Amino acid sequence: MTVTAQSQLLSFSEARQVVENYAARLSPTDPEIVSLLDALGLALAEGLRADRDFPPFPRSTRDGYAVRAADVAAVPVRLRLAGEIKAGASKEQSDITIGKDETAEIMTGAPVPSGADAVVMVEYAERSGEAVTIQRAVQAGENVVPAAAEARQGAMMVARGTRVTHTTVAIAAAVGRSEVSAFRRPRVAILATGDELVEINLPPGPNEIRNSNSYSLAAQVYAAGGEPVILPVAPDSPDELALLLRKGFDCELLLITGGVSMGKYDLVEQVLASFEAKFLFTGVLIQPGKPVVFGEVVIRDKTAPFFGLPGNPVSTMVTFQLFARPVLDALSGSAPQPLPFARARLTSSFTTKKGLTRFLPARLGGSHEEPNVELIRWRGSGDLMAMSRSNCYLVVPPEQEHFTTGEPVTVLLF
Ligand code: AMP
Ligand code: MG
Repeated sequence: MTVTAQSQLLSFSEARQVVENYAARLSPTDPEIVSLLDALGLALAEGLRADRDFPPFPRSTRDGYAVRAADVAAVPVRLRLAGEIKAGASKEQSDITIGKDETAEIMTGAPVPSGADAVVMVEYAERSGEAVTIQRAVQAGENVVPAAAEARQGAMMVARGTRVTHTTVAIAAAVGRSEVSAFRRPRVAILATGDELVEINLPPGPNEIRNSNSYSLAAQVYAAGGEPVILPVAPDSPDELALLLRKGFDCELLLITGGVSMGKYDLVEQVLASFEAKFLFTGVLIQPGKPVVFGEVVIRDKTAPFFGLPGNPVSTMVTFQLFARPVLDALSGSAPQPLPFARARLTSSFTTKKGLTRFLPARLGGSHEEPNVELIRWRGSGDLMAMSRSNCYLVVPPEQEHFTTGEPVTVLLF
C-alpha cells in the first residue's frame, strides 16, 4: 500500500483557518430538554430571555440612606427619617415617598423609594432618633441601578449557542428556568493505534506502554461538550486498523492517535486513503504535533470528519486543542470560540530554531500586577510530567529565535 494522499503541509494559521471554515459549515446535533445543572458544558439550543425587567425595581447597591441628591449637595445636612426599607420588603412597607429634606434607611438589594434618586452609604451618615446627618454629597443615580438597566423584559440575556457555564446557570436560574433546551453531546470516537500499547487495566510487557492518549482525549472531548466513545486499541496492521476506522466513522467525529508520522508502521494515512478520504491537511508547521492530519470520509451516505493526531501524549493534547476543538464546538452547537491567548513576561531567556510555531509547556504565574511565564524543562513531546507541571503553552512564532528575560510573550491557556 502506498500513501495516495497528496502531502499538504500548512502553516499554523492556515491550518487553523481550514478547521474554522470547515466547522462553520457543520450542523449541530439535535436539541434535548435537560435539567439546568445537567446542561453544564453543553451548548444552549435556545436563547434565554428576561422574564421580567432586570432589576425589576430600582435597586440599592449599598446599605445606607435613600436621598434626593439635590438635598445633600451641601454637607453636612440634617434630614428627617421617613422610614426603613429592607431587601424583600412588601409593597406596603416600601411604599414611602421621599419629600424634600427626607430620607429612608435602606439595605442592599432593597427598592429605592419614589422621590429618592441616590443612596448615601451608611458610613457617611449618622442617625440620632428621627434625624439623620449626611456627611457626604452624592450624584443623582449614585448607588442605584435603575429598573430594567441590565435587561428589559423579553430581552435576550444569553444567546443560543452559548456553552453553559456557572454564569449561564445563574441567568437561567434568575429567569426561572429549571430546564433548558441544549444540544446533545456529539459522539466522538477515539481510536489509539500502536503495537506497543496495552489497555490500562492490563500489565504492560517490558517494551510496552499503557494507552494514556485515549483517556486524555476522552477528558478533553468531554470538557469540550462531546461524548467520548473509546474504541479498542488498533494494532499496526492495515486490516485491523480499517475495521476499527469503519466503526469510528459511525460517530459524529473520529479522533485517531498515533501512526501518522513517517515511520514504516505509521499506517493511518494510507488506510484512510483506502476509504477514499479527502485530506484537508496532512501536516502543520508546529511543534509538537507536526504530522497532524485532518480530513473527511464519505461513508454510508454521511460525511465523517476525522483527525489523525500524532501519538506522543503532548502532541495529542496540543493538536486536539488547536484543531479538533473547533470542529467539536460546531458539532455540539457552540458558537465559534477563539483560542484563549494571553500575554505575560518571560522569567528567563531561551533560544530556539526558526520555522515552526511552537507550543511549549509553560507555567503562568506572578501577580495580577505583573503576570509572568516560565518555560518548563521537558524531554520532548512524550513528556507527560512536564505537562502536569504546566498550565499553559508558551507560543513561539515561527520567525523568532531568541527570547530575553522580561520580554512579553504570548501564552495559550489550556
Ligand atoms: P506515533 O505517533 O505512533 O509514532 O507514536 C509516537 C509516540 O507516542 C511513541 O513513543 C508512542 O509509543 C507514543 N504513543 C502512541 N500512542 C500512544 C497512546 N495511545 N498512549 C501513550 N503513548 C502513545
Ligand atoms: Mg505508532
